[in-house]
Amino acid sequence: MSVVNSPAVADTDQQLRITEIFYSLQGEARTVGLPTVFVRLTGCPLRCVYCDTAYAFTGGDMRTLESITAEVASHSPAYVTVTGGEPLAQPNCLPLLAQLCDAGYEVSLETSGAMSVAQVDPRVVKVLDLKTPASAEMSRNDYGNIDYLTLIDQVKFVICDRADYEWARFKLDEFGLANKVSDVLFSPSHGQLSARELAEWILADNLPVRLQLQLHKLLWNDEPGH
Ligand code: SF4
Repeated sequence: MSVVNSPAVADTDQQLRITEIFYSLQGEARTVGLPTVFVRLTGCPLRCVYCDTAYAFTGGDMRTLESITAEVASHSPAYVTVTGGEPLAQPNCLPLLAQLCDAGYEVSLETSGAMSVAQVDPRVVKVLDLKTPASAEMSRNDYGNIDYLTLIDQVKFVICDRADYEWARFKLDEFGLANKVSDVLFSPSHGQLSARELAEWILADNLPVRLQLQLHKLLWNDEPGH
């Protein structure tokens, strides 16, 4: 039975289009290096120039929430990350997040920042991107999302060049992000900006941010399924 207009209510008949579910080490964010189950939802309305998950734009399989949560449980994880694509592009992402929290996992959501996070279960750790100028999707940032961030959440900037860095530094200050979330992540765009250069900029400006390298790329060179 479906419950109309209550997207956060769990309903095992509801479905999502899923690209992959896999168990790996968390490659990013505060829980980097910890064993985590990833649920990758299909589809994204954005087209960032550096996107490394274009294989998730289309395809995938329709799965019930019951089948998704059963596969997650088969790995007995402590941590579950819902990602994409842009997971919030599918409304049934909201009940999935609530069900995963109900099951007792520490749940995080990786989102582009282009879609409202207002109805995301408050137990979920939001890892919210702010898209920089060189992403070519800066105009998609929904800055209203910042009002919904709490001290369990994280904000991520993927930085392609010095202009992106300056822009991110400005946004850090404009929104007081260092005091609003647990971590502000500065991640060099893979193949565009060296991590060392970004590290030196952060140190020179004494910024209250965490340099983030993508562990899964170091370990598995971007192969799907990791
Ligand atoms: S929001 Fe993420 S999945 Fe979508 S195009 Fe940008 S990097 Fe790729």
